[in-house]
Amino acid sequence: MSNGIVYLVGAGPGDPSLITLRGVQCLQNADVVVYDYLANEQLLNHAPGTAELIYAGKIGGHHNQDQDEINGLLIAKGKAGKVVVRLKGGDPFVFGRGGEECEALRDAGIPFEVVPGVTAAVGAAAYSGIPLTHRDVTASVAFVTGHEGKDKSESCIDWDRLSLGGGTVVFYMGVTTLRSNMERMITHGRSPDTPVALVRWATSPCQQVLTGTLSDIADKAEKCGFKPPAITIVGEVVALRDKLKWFDRRPLCGKKIIVTRAAEQAGEFTAKLLTRGAAVLECPTIKLVEPASWQLLDVAIRELPSYDWLILTSGTAVRCFFSRMKKLGLDARALAGCKVCAVGPKTAEEIRLFGIHPDLVPSDYKAEGVVSEFSRLDMLDARILFPRADKARDVIPRELKQMGAHVDSPVAYRNVFPERLPPETLFALEKRSVDCITFTSSSTVQNLAAMLGEELMLDMLKGVAVASIGPVTSKSCRDLGLKVDIEPSTYTTDALADALEAHFT
Ligand code: SAH
Repeated sequence: MSNGIVYLVGAGPGDPSLITLRGVQCLQNADVVVYDYLANEQLLNHAPGTAELIYAGKIGGHHNQDQDEINGLLIAKGKAGKVVVRLKGGDPFVFGRGGEECEALRDAGIPFEVVPGVTAAVGAAAYSGIPLTHRDVTASVAFVTGHEGKDKSESCIDWDRLSLGGGTVVFYMGVTTLRSNMERMITHGRSPDTPVALVRWATSPCQQVLTGTLSDIADKAEKCGFKPPAITIVGEVVALRDKLKWFDRRPLCGKKIIVTRAAEQAGEFTAKLLTRGAAVLECPTIKLVEPASWQLLDVAIRELPSYDWLILTSGTAVRCFFSRMKKLGLDARALAGCKVCAVGPKTAEEIRLFGIHPDLVPSDYKAEGVVSEFSRLDMLDARILFPRADKARDVIPRELKQMGAHVDSPVAYRNVFPERLPPETLFALEKRSVDCITFTSSSTVQNLAAMLGEELMLDMLKGVAVASIGPVTSKSCRDLGLKVDIEPSTYTTDALADALEAHFT
C-alpha cells in the first residue's frame, strides 16, 4: 500500500508572501515539489532540504505532450508513496490545467487535494489599485483567455456578451493577441474609450503597469515593447487606479538594491527595504563561522563573576555569547554581578531577548561611542570582557587598557567570505540594472572586494549608488576606491533605510 498523495497548490501571482498557510504546510511536508515557471522560486525554501525539486516550466506555449509528461510524473511519484506538491502559479483551477491534472490523478487512483491560490487577475488588481468590481461602476467581472487553443476553429468566447455586458473583463495570456482582442471588443460593441490596463509580473517588485483605452492600448504596448506575462484589465474600474494606486507610490518602488549582510543577518534589513517597495538582491559577503577554538571564551564565561563589565557590539556577538553560555550550562544569572554595555539600540534589543537589560548604551553607536562613555567612569583595574569577531577593530580594548582597565577580548565568531556571489546578483550587476548597494560593516565591503577583486568590484559598481551604515564602514569603502553616496547620521539599519528613501525620493 502506498500513502502517496498529490497536493495541487496555488503559489499565488508572484509576491511570495501571497501563498496560503495551507500551501506552506503542504510544502513543508513535501517529498517532491513539481513547480512551474510562474511560481516564485523563493517558495521552494518552505520545502525540506531533502525534497526533490522538479522544474516543470512551460515557457511560452502549452503543449499537450508536456502536460501528459507532467501527469505521468505526478502519477508515478504518487504511486511510489511520495507526498507530492504540484506548485502552480496563481490558482490551480484558473487557466492552470489543474482540472486536467486532477482528472489524470483520479483515473490513476492517486489521492489528491487542491489548495487555492491568489489568481493573477486578483493579485494584479490589488497591486495596481484597480478594484475588479465597484458599487458605483460595475457589478460583474469575467476572466477570459486571451489565447484560445490553436486547434479551436470557432471561438468559445461570447464576444457579444463580454463586450456589451458592461462588466470588467480580465484577459489572461493575451499580450501577443492584444490587438485582435481589443478590436474584437470594439466591433462587438464596447466603447473604444473604455479604459484598459496591462499588468506585467503583477505583485512582484518588477511589476509594470501600462494604461490606455481599447483603441490605443495595443499601439502603446507595441511602442514600449510590452512583454508577457501580463494580464489585461478592461473596464471603467481601471480609471480608479489614478486615485487608488499604492504599490508604485512606495518610496523605493522600482529600485534594485543589493544587501551584502550575512544571510543570518540580512532578513530584517531586507524586510525594511521590501516594505518600502525595493527589489532586494541578497548577496551575502559574510559567512559567520565558529572561532578556531572556544577555549578563551569558555574560560572567560566560567569566570564571569570576576568581570565588572561585559561589552557587546553586534547582534551576532550577543547570539554567539549567549549560545555559548547555554552550551556551558549557564544562563542570565551568571551575569548577576557584571554590568552590560551594548553598542547601540539594536544590540541592546538582542540582549534583552536573553533577559538582561543593558546598563549602558552610548549615544554614538560605535566603538568610539563606547570608549567615550567609559572615559567618564573610573576604569582603573576594572575587568572587562569583550567577546568579538576575529577581524574586529581594536579601538575598545586599546583605549580601555589606556584607561587602566584589564580587557579580555576572546573571539566569539569569525567572519569569512563565501566563495562566490549569487548568480542573480552577478547577472544584475553585469546588466547594469542595480541602483544601489548597501554595506552595513567594513567586512561587508572588504569581503566583496576580496571576492570579486578590487578592480572588477569598482568596475561593476560604476553607476551604482553606495550606501554605508556609518563613518567606519564609509572609510573602508573609500579605502577601496568607492565613493559613498548615502550615509545616515545614526548608525542603524533603520536609519540606513530612511536615508535610502530620502536619497531616492
Ligand atoms: N493559474 C494562473 C494562470 C496561468 S495562465 C493564475 O491563476 O494566475 C498564465 C497567464 O497568467 C499569463 O499568461 C498571464 O496572463 C497570467 N499571469 C500569471 N502570473 C502573472 C503575473 N504575475 N502577472 C501578470 N500576469 C500573470
